[in-house]
Amino acid sequence: MSGADKSSWLGANLKRCTVCGNMFEPKHSKQTTCSPECAIKAHKAKVKKDYEQNKDKYREHARARRERIKQAKEATTNRKQSDNMAAITEISKRGVHYGLYVAEMWLEEQKRKREKNND
Ligand SMILES: [Zn+2]
Repeated sequence: MSGADKSSWLGANLKRCTVCGNMFEPKHSKQTTCSPECAIKAHKAKVKKDYEQNKDKYREHARARRERIKQAKEATTNRKQSDNMAAITEISKRGVHYGLYVAEMWLEEQKRKREKNND
């Protein structure tokens, strides 16, 4: 029992709100603010303080994230390019002109559609 505990007052464990300075009776030991409003303010202040302290880390995270997005985009572009390359390789293997190849594809497509309709 510590009689010197200044938060003890009339048997109640009163605490001073870290935001507005009012005395309040905490519902649980970790409560540091008197009201939800003060809790929100305290949380915002904590987030801000945390950000100020770790600014460089957060900036680095943001930069790394941007870098990952950029790389993902580049990978998609590269994949598209390699798809085109595959098509071009296929055309050159067949030894046909590109226009001819497209026409052939179109004719095959029409043939498939006709077959489907005849079913
Ligand atoms: Zn308060």
